Amino acid sequence: GGTIGILGGGQLGRMLAVAAAQLGYRTHILAPERDSVAAQTASSLTRADYHNRIVLNDFAEQCDVVTYEFENVAVGPVEWLAARIPVHPAPAALRVAQDRIAEKAFVETVGGRPAPWAAVDSEHALTAALARIGTPAILKTTRMGYDGKGQALIRTIGEAADAWTTIGGPSVLEGFIRFEHEFSILIARGHDGATVRYDPPHNVHHASILRTSTVPAPAEVLTQAEEATALACRIAEKLGYVGVLACEFFATSDGPVFNEMAPRVHNSGHWTIEGAETSQFENHIRAICGLPLGDPSARGVVEMRNLIGDDPWQAALTEPGAHLHLYGKGEARPGRKMGHVTVVR
Ligand code: ATP
Ligand code: MG
Ligand code: MG
Repeated sequence: GGTIGILGGGQLGRMLAVAAAQLGYRTHILAPERDSVAAQTASSLTRADYHNRIVLNDFAEQCDVVTYEFENVAVGPVEWLAARIPVHPAPAALRVAQDRIAEKAFVETVGGRPAPWAAVDSEHALTAALARIGTPAILKTTRMGYDGKGQALIRTIGEAADAWTTIGGPSVLEGFIRFEHEFSILIARGHDGATVRYDPPHNVHHASILRTSTVPAPAEVLTQAEEATALACRIAEKLGYVGVLACEFFATSDGPVFNEMAPRVHNSGHWTIEGAETSQFENHIRAICGLPLGDPSARGVVEMRNLIGDDPWQAALTEPGAHLHLYGKGEARPGRKMGHVTVVR
C-alpha cells in the first residue's frame, strides 16, 4: 500500500490511478483543473497550481512517491518535491523532454539520429536555418507543443515569414522526413535498472493527432525496432530513468529517425491495457514503487483506435474483441481525445 502522487489531471493520470488501485495503492492527483478526469478515478485531489509551496508541501506530506502524467509541468516545483520525497522519473528526464532543443541535443549524445534541426529565435535565424536545412521543413515551438499544436509546415522559402508570424518565439526548425511508417518504442525501467520492452506499435497520425496504434507493426518497422529500442535503453540509462519511457520514431529507408520522447506513459501504449500481459500503466506503477516489472508480451494482434472529437463509440460495445474506454471529458471538441477502443484478436 501507500499513496502515489500524480502531477496532472488528464486521461493518462486516470488510467494510472486505475492501475495503482488494482495493486492496492491510493492515488492523489495534483492538477489545476476544477474537475479533472484523473480525479474521477483517483482516491483524492488537490486542485492547485504547481507553484504554490504550501500546497506542494502538503502534497509531499500526503504521498510516498510522486510521478507525472504531463511533461509540461514546470521543472522547478518537481525538483522542489524531489528534494523531499522520491519523484520518478527524476526531474532530469522532464527537463530534457520538455524542451525540443535540449531533447535533440541529448539524444545525439547517446547516438540517436533526429531529423536535421536548427534552433531558431528570430526571422533572420529562420532564413539562415532554411538555407541549411532546405524545404519542406517544420517549425516547432521549443516548449509546450502537443498534438501538433505550435507547429508550422514550411513548403517553400516563401512561406517562412508566415511561419515565423505563427510561431514567433523560441523554436526549432526540422527537416521534413519522408517516412514509410511511424512507430514508437515503449520501455519500462525499474530502480535496479531492469528493463522490459513492449512490441513497437505502428502509429498512424491524422492532422498530427494519433489515430491508431497497431501491434505487430509491419516488417519495415520491426527491422528498425531493435536499433530504436537500443537507443531508448541508452536514453533511459543515461537519465537514470525509472518508469515508462516512450520514444517516437520515423521508419525511413535510412533506418530509424528519432522524433521525440515522452517521460511518461503514452497514447501509443494504450493497446497494452488489454493487449499485453502487463499494461504500460501497471508497469509504470510497479517501476516507481520498486516492484518487479511484469511481462510486456502482446496477447495477439492488437489495434488501438483513438476516439477524437465526436467520433462514434457505440459500435464498439458490440464489436467482437473490442474494449471501449471513455475518458469522461464531457464536451467533445474537435481534435479532443475523448476515449479509445482496443481490439484484440
Ligand atoms: P505529440 O506530443 O502529441 O505526439 P507533438 O505536438 O509533440 O505531438 P510531433 O510528434 O513533433 O508533435 O509531430 C506530430 C506529427 O507530425 C508526427 O507524429 C509526424 O506525423 C509529423 N511530423 C512531425 N515532425 C515531422 C518531421 N520532421 N517530418 C515529417 N513529419 C513530421
Ligand atoms: Mg510531443
Ligand atoms: Mg509526437
